This record gives sequence, C-alpha cells and structure tokens, in this order.
Amino acid sequence: MSASRVIVEERRAAVSALVVGTGAAGLRAAIELQERGVQVLCVGKRRCDDAHTVLAAGGINAALGTMDPEDSWEQHAADTLREGYWLADPVSVELLCREAPAAIDDLVRWGARLAREEDGRLTQRFFGAHRFRRTCFAGDYTGREIQRTLVARAAEVGVAIRDDIYVTRLLVHDGRVFGAYGFDVDDGSRWLIVADAIVLAAGGHTRIWRRSSSRRDENTGDAMRLAAEAGCRLRDMELVQFHPTGMVYPEESAGTLVTEAVRGEGGILRNAAGERFMERYDPERLELSSRDRVALANYTEIAEGRGTAHGGVLLDVSHLDRDLILSRLPRMYRQFVDLAMLDITTTPMEVAPTAHYSMGGIRVEAETHATDVEGLYAVGECATGVHGANRLGGNSLAECLVFGRIAGAEAARWSASLDVQARDRAAIVAAREEVDQLLARRGDEFARPLQRAVRDLMSECGGVVRSEDGLRQGLARLDEVATRAHDMEVRPDIAGYDDLAHAFDLHGSLLAARATLECALERRETRGAHNRVDFPDQDFGLQVNLVWAGGGTVTREPIPQPSSVRGAELGAELPRRALRAERDQLADPSE
Ligand SMILES: Cc1cc2nc3c(=O)[nH]c(=O)nc-3n(C[C@H](O)[C@H](O)[C@H](O)COP(=O)(O)OP(=O)(O)OC[C@H]3O[C@@H](n4cnc5c(N)ncnc54)[C@H](O)[C@@H]3O)c2cc1C
Repeated sequence: MSASRVIVEERRAAVSALVVGTGAAGLRAAIELQERGVQVLCVGKRRCDDAHTVLAAGGINAALGTMDPEDSWEQHAADTLREGYWLADPVSVELLCREAPAAIDDLVRWGARLAREEDGRLTQRFFGAHRFRRTCFAGDYTGREIQRTLVARAAEVGVAIRDDIYVTRLLVHDGRVFGAYGFDVDDGSRWLIVADAIVLAAGGHTRIWRRSSSRRDENTGDAMRLAAEAGCRLRDMELVQFHPTGMVYPEESAGTLVTEAVRGEGGILRNAAGERFMERYDPERLELSSRDRVALANYTEIAEGRGTAHGGVLLDVSHLDRDLILSRLPRMYRQFVDLAMLDITTTPMEVAPTAHYSMGGIRVEAETHATDVEGLYAVGECATGVHGANRLGGNSLAECLVFGRIAGAEAARWSASLDVQARDRAAIVAAREEVDQLLARRGDEFARPLQRAVRDLMSECGGVVRSEDGLRQGLARLDEVATRAHDMEVRPDIAGYDDLAHAFDLHGSLLAARATLECALERRETRGAHNRVDFPDQDFGLQVNLVWAGGGTVTREPIPQPSSVRGAELGAELPRRALRAERDQLADPSE
C-alpha cells in the first residue's frame, strides 16, 4: 500500500540534458553542452559557489613544461599509470594527459588567475610522485579559483543552474535514462525533470569514514547509489585514497586536509622522537613519495607508538622562509590559526591519514564516459578509470575538466541522435512513492546517528589497513545499520528539508559502504591504497578491475585494452616507452 502523499506540489521541467552536480566536473560538462547549443539544466544539492571542488587546494596537473621543458604528456601518463599500480585504464590516462594542457588553456581564457613567474610563464610546482613540475596552482586555493572561473563562465554562456535540488532517483525505461526525480531542499516541493541525456557528476563517497577531508553532507555516495539503482555497475570501490596528512587536533577539525603542497614546498615529516621517518620508507623520494606510501608510513608510525599525544605525526615547515609560506600556503596558514590556534611558520602541524578520494566509482567507457545505461554519463570523482590504486595529487581537477568536456560533448551527441524518447509512468510513480514513504514513516531511528554508525564501522573495519575478519565484521555491522534504517523517521521542519536529504545521504552511504567492503574482501592482495594485513603482497593475478553489480557479486574484469585505433597505437606502447625513457634518465649520473 502506498503511503499518503505529504507534499502536493510537483514541479516539472523538460530539458535536452540534465547535469547532476555543480562541482568542477558538472559545470565543465554543462558549459560544453551549452556551448554546443544544447538546452541544459545543472542541479546540485548545495550552493554552487561552495561545491566540494572549492576544497581542492594544491593544484591541477598538465604537462606544459613551463618549468621543466623536458616534461611531456607521455611522461605524465607514465607517472599516472605506474603510480596507479597498473589498474588505471590506459586509454583514459592517455586522454587525461594529452588533453590536460587544453583544459588549462580554457581556464586561463575564461579568467582563472593561476600563479605565474615574473616573465609570465605559468608556475608549476612539484607534487608527490610526479617526475617533473607540472602542477599549476592558485596559492593553495586552486579549487576555489577553478570553481569561481567555471561558475562565471557558466553564467556567461547562459547555463541554467539550480543548486537547491536534491536528486533522489534517476528515471530509466528499458535500459535508457529519461529523467530524474528529486526535491527542493528548502521547501520540499518535488521536481520531475525529463531529459534526453544525463551527466552524473555528484562526487565520491569518502565522507563515510570518521576522519574525512570532506565536509559534512558531501561525498556521501549519492552518485554511486543513483547509478547502481539505475542499472549501472560500479568498479574498484575498494580503492579509496587516504591522504597522508589530515589534521588530528582539535577533534572537531580532525580529518581536515593539510594539502600536499605543504610537502611540495619542502615540508618535513617527523615522528614524536624527532626522526625523519620517510628515510626508512622511501629514502629516495622522502616526503614526496606517493600518497599511499606516505599514508601507510604515517599510519604505521602512529600504530607502532611513535606518534604524538593526539595520535598524529609532525609535519614541519618552520625551516622555510616565512614569506614563502604566506605566499604559497596562505590557506594552510589560516586554517591552523583559525582551527588550532597554531602558527605553522614556527610550530609543526600534527597530521594523520584521512579518507580523501574515491578512486573507484561508476564504471564508464574510457573514451566517452558512457555508463551501462543509455544516455547516462558519469564524470569526475564519481566515475572511475584514471587513478588505478593510487591517485596522483593534482590529477583529479584535470580529470574533471578533461572528461567534463568529453562527457558534455557525448551527452550532446546522444541527445541529437534521439528520434523518440519513451517515458515510463511506473518509474516516476516509484520515485515519487519513495519520497512519500520516507516522509510518512514513523520510528525511533534518525539519520544522523545512523550515519555515524556507518562512519564508525568503515573506520574500524575498512580503513587504511584491512583484513578478511575485519571486513566481514564490517559487513555484519552494516546489515545491522541497514535494518535500523527501516525505522528511520524523517522530520522536515521550518528550516527546510535537510532531514530528508540526510536520509537519502544515508541510503547512498549504505550502498557505497557495502560495495566498498565487498570489493575489499575480493581484493586479496596489497596494492596501492588497499592494504590487506592478511595478504601483504601484490598478486599479479589481481591486476584486474573488480566490478560490483549488487547482490553480493564481485567479478573480475581485465584492464581494458585500448579501444580506439589511436588508443591501440599509443595505449599499449605508452607505458613501456615512457618508462624506458625514465629508466634511462635515472641511470644517467649527470642528471
Ligand atoms: C581538501 C581537498 C583538497 C583537494 N585538493 C585537490 C588538488 O589540489 N588537486 C586535485 O586535482 N584534486 C584535489 N582534490 C580532489 C578534488 O577536489 C575532487 O575530486 C573534485 O573537486 C571533485 O569534483 P566533482 O565535480 O567530481 O565533484 P564535487 O565537487 O564533489 O561536486 C559534486 C556535486 O554534486 C552535487 N550532488 C551530490 N549529490 C547530489 C544529489 N543527490 N542531488 C543533487 N546534487 C548532488 C553536489 O551538490 C555538488 O554540486 C581535493 C579534495 C579535497 C577534499
């Protein structure tokens, strides 16, 4: 029996393309659609000038060679593939690295104020595990500057944006998307949006760990749930990047990111005994080692009792020039003054690993970012393919821009190719009833405590270091939370429909957590960010992607072969060629 209707008003819109997400990926896709003359609506669940992308600090990668002329897109691709432990899709990586310079050109043309040398060249800084300086930046406010630029460009070309719509379901008929359902987060009125094509750019799932570099209510796994319930498969959900340096103190700020740029500018890690411990973990690259290694090193130092009283290690920039810190790391300076009353120019920061980035996500075709559902594309942090088992810092913003443009172009092509669009009344009714039922339900459980229960179990059972026992325990605890969620009561109030949003956030988190734990169980090896104490070595047989389709099944998929002629020419050769060049250079003592 269907629940009684609570909200009567339902607004309707029909557009050629709908973009879900107003972060860098969504806005870039929307701009492309608009520029191609496609009528587009871009929606988000929080203010678009404050989308999660604004948190991005350190920079965006492109092999421009402004500082190191010997850099090339091939070298960028080789770094990305190698540091991703060969789980990334070679064609995606090729596209990312070839197209990133054009993405920077777009940004600059649209007014982005990126750092420059005195002679006008764009400044590029080192980021961990990159062979050359290829990270462009705007102080340590790069994401904010990119978001500002994209919001301004979207307005300039006339993209329609509604950043108060929570999408609860994608509407699908016969394997083809035809729209989305949602509600207004302020007044609760419903939205039925019919669209030929949808670009899903709704972010990742790293807020489901206790210590996370995301803010509350973002990265709750919405995109993964929306896609999976629409009929898409997810891939490599176990591959979650724990950034080595999140704040540990004060408790309410725990997890807040300390950008990699701090190490890029010369920050040194020490344990409580004052030892520069990276000399033991990666004597060559030290603090500029890859994120997975630095995260595991920090974790190990703390777990083995060499951490600080607050449970962290020390990150020190006090040996650097004060003016350099203030000009290159202004946000970090402010962050520590504001949150911890600490002057980083004189006193070391306390840091520990924090859940940071979803490297797995919605399974997409490498060249088009099409999903398993016709007309539905996924892009940005919610999609997978570029980062393998370890994302290089600075590659995500580049991914959002490069594939945002590509997904926008593909969605435009799909919309133009449609002769008819079939809608399905039953799908609309089901979406409507889902919201009705949540609002009508009475019980003694609430979304916030249940979200906390998910975060606790993910931190204790699916964190930096994992084991079969722990993961199974995590799944059992997740079942309990899912059962409790059946008694969840949702009470919108005069301040708006946040409570309803939290309930849907929880549903996203439950699905994303299950997919993560189930994939983590299947990856019986240690590779990149995925550390299994019971399988401490890398297993060549597991150099595959893990595909999750719900129902407890995880299947193995070979790393995709290059799918185009161009890809076939370059994709297979690229890593070998660039790595050979790299080895040769390393052997040259004059370097
Ligand atoms: C602290 C921090 C620093 C970082 N620094 C860097 C860096 O220096 N370089 C780099 O390359 N990367 C960095 N990253 C990663 C990078 O910022 C993100 O991966 C990237 O911004 C993701 O962009 P996106 O467009 O995919 O998603 P987001 O920016 O997360 O946007 C998601 C959008 O989806 C909307 N949404 C979500 N769910 C729904 C729903 N149900 N209904 C409607 N709308 C919804 C949201 O409102 C939002 O508009 C950093 C990340 C963090 C957390």
